[in-house]
Amino acid sequence: MGARTGQQYLDRLAATRPHVEINGETVTENIPGHPAFAGITRTYAELFDMQHAPETRDALTYTSPTSGDPVGTSFLVPRTAEDLLLRREGFKTWADFSLGTLGRTGDYLNSSLMALSQAEPWFAQADPRFGENIRRYYEKVREEDLLTTHTLIPPQINRSAGAGQEVDGRALSAHVVSEDDNGIVVRGARMLATIGPIADELLVFPSTVLRNVPEDAPYAFAFAINCDAPGLRFICREGIDYGRDHPLGGRFDEIDAVVVFDDVHVPWERVFLLRNPDLTNAFYSDTSAVVHMTHQVVTRTTAKMESILGLLTLLTEAIGIEKFQHIQVDIAEAITTVGILHGLLRAAEADATVNDYGVLTPAWEPLNTARNWFPKLYGRFPEMLRKFGASGLMALPTEGDITGSAGQDISDYLQSATLTGAERVRLFRLAWDLSASAFAGRQTLYEYYFFGDPVRMSGALIGATDREPYRERVSAFLDRITEPAVTA
Ligand SMILES: Cc1cc2nc3c(=O)[nH]c(=O)nc-3n(C[C@H](O)[C@H](O)[C@H](O)COP(=O)(O)OP(=O)(O)OC[C@H]3O[C@@H](n4cnc5c(N)ncnc54)[C@H](O)[C@@H]3O)c2cc1C
Repeated sequence: MGARTGQQYLDRLAATRPHVEINGETVTENIPGHPAFAGITRTYAELFDMQHAPETRDALTYTSPTSGDPVGTSFLVPRTAEDLLLRREGFKTWADFSLGTLGRTGDYLNSSLMALSQAEPWFAQADPRFGENIRRYYEKVREEDLLTTHTLIPPQINRSAGAGQEVDGRALSAHVVSEDDNGIVVRGARMLATIGPIADELLVFPSTVLRNVPEDAPYAFAFAINCDAPGLRFICREGIDYGRDHPLGGRFDEIDAVVVFDDVHVPWERVFLLRNPDLTNAFYSDTSAVVHMTHQVVTRTTAKMESILGLLTLLTEAIGIEKFQHIQVDIAEAITTVGILHGLLRAAEADATVNDYGVLTPAWEPLNTARNWFPKLYGRFPEMLRKFGASGLMALPTEGDITGSAGQDISDYLQSATLTGAERVRLFRLAWDLSASAFAGRQTLYEYYFFGDPVRMSGALIGATDREPYRERVSAFLDRITEPAVTA
C-alpha cells in the first residue's frame, strides 16, 4: 500500500473497535466521527494527504526498497548525508504545518522503529525471534503507513517506590503475568499515551531504569499492540478542542490518555524484548533509536521556535513596541535560540557517523545538548508572548463578532499600527493560543517533560559526560601557576 491518504487513515480508524473513555462516555466505534476526535483526526488526515500533494510529496516520501511504493521519509534508513537531510526535510515539512505544536506526527516513532529494526542482532542476542520480530514490525508499519504512539512510564502512584510496587497486594504498573505458546499476557497500567485513541498502534516500550533482579523482570519488556486489542482501554483527559476560533487548540489537540491493560494478550510476533532488565535499560541507547528520535524532535522544536520568532515579530510590529529595549532583549533571546537550534542540528548532521548496524547516525552531543537545554527554556517564549500581548490577549472577539454586528467597532477600535481590526484579532488569538489558553498550558507542560523529567535527565547527563579532560586542564593550570614554596 505505501504512504496512505487522509481518507485511508480515517477509514481504517473508523473500522476499528477500541475501548476509549472520555467525559464519562465509552466510545467503541467510529472514532473520527466522534466530536472529541473529529478535529484532530481531520488534522492527521491532512498530514497523510501531504504525502501525496505535489508540493510536499518529495520531502515526505521515498521509494520502498521492498514494494517500490512511495513510503514515508521517516522510514528511510540513512546511509548518506543526503539521506539524513531528506529525513530532516520530511520532519520539517510536517512540523511547519502545525507551527511545531504537534508532538506525535508519525515521523517521531517511525524514526525510532527505523533505528530499532536495523539493530536486529542486538534484539537477537536475547532471542533470535525478537530480532526478526522488530524488523518485520518496522516493515509492516512502513508498508501499511500505520500511525503509532507509545506509552512508557508507570502510573504516578508513589515515585519513591520501585517498579514492582504493590497496593493492597496488587501490582498496578503494566507487567507480564503469563506466557504461553501464543504470546504474553499484560496486566496493569501505563500513565499516558498521547494520541492513543486516534493511533493505529501502541508501542509499549521501556523508559524507567530497572534493576537486574527477579522482581523487576516482569516489568522489562518491549512490545507493540494494535490500539483496539481486546482488554486495552484508553481513559482520556478532557478535550481542549473548543472549535476553530482557537487556531491551535481547534486543530491540534493531541488528546492524552491513561492506558489500562486488562489482561491484554500480545502475540509473540509483536514481542521485541522480555524479562531482561539490562537490555531493556539499554534499548534506546544501544540501538541509536534515541538519536534518530531526537533528530526529529529537535527539527520540530526548531520549527516551533522559528514560528514563535515570527509571531513575536508580527506582534511587536502590530502595536509598535519593537523599539522598547526590554522587548528587544526578549526578541534577541528568541533569535539566538533559533540560531543555537540551527547550529545544533547542522552540527549533529555534519558529524554523523555510521553506527554498529550500518546506519548513518547524527552526532549525539549536539542533539543531547538540545534535548537537555530546550525543555527548560521553552517556558520563556509563552511568557514573552503574554508580556508583549498584554490586554490584547484578552480583547479577542470571535469570528462571529468580526462578521456580525460588532464588525464596525472591531474595525475601528481593534485596528493596530499595521493591521486591520480583523487581522489584529486573528494574530492576537494565535498568540493567546500559544501562551495563555488551555492548549498553551498543555504545550508548556509537554515541552518541559517531552524527554522525561529534566531533573533526572540532568543527573544522567552528568553521569554520561566525560569531564576528565577539562578537570585535568584546570588542575594542570593550577599546578603551573602555583609557585614552589621558597625555603630559607
Ligand atoms: C502533555 C504530555 C504528554 C505526554 N505524552 C506521553 C506519551 O505519549 N507517552 C508517554 O509514555 N509519556 C507521555 N508523557 C509523560 C512524560 O514522559 C512524563 O511526564 C515524564 O517522563 C515525567 O514523568 P512523570 O510525569 O511521571 O513525573 P514524575 O516522575 O511523577 O515526577 C513528578 C515530580 O517529582 C519529581 N521526581 C519524581 N521522582 C523523582 C526522583 N527519583 N528524583 C528526583 N525528582 C523526582 C520530578 O522532578 C517532578 O518534579 C506525557 C507528558 C505530558 C505532560
